Amino acid sequence: MIDRELLEILACPLCKTEVRLEGDRIVCARCGRRYPIRDEIPVMLIEEAEAPGEPAERGSGGSGSGGPGGGGGGAASA
Ligand SMILES: [Zn+2]
Repeated sequence: MIDRELLEILACPLCKTEVRLEGDRIVCARCGRRYPIRDEIPVMLIEEAEAPGEPAERGSGGSGSGGPGGGGGGAASA
């Protein structure tokens, strides 16, 4: 079990943000990386951290908004 006091002094090594205990892992409040706890000792190592769910790849083949660009905005005066 991790002490709350210990948690308070821990910080994400990546973004220096406070972390919280979630289940049996330490979770960064900012980047969402999860650090394992081994033998009741939080392993605050970036390379040991589990990255948060990586966002689905986007950009490749994104058939985005198919709307026409401008559209006739103003009534032609004159
Ligand atoms: Zn972080």
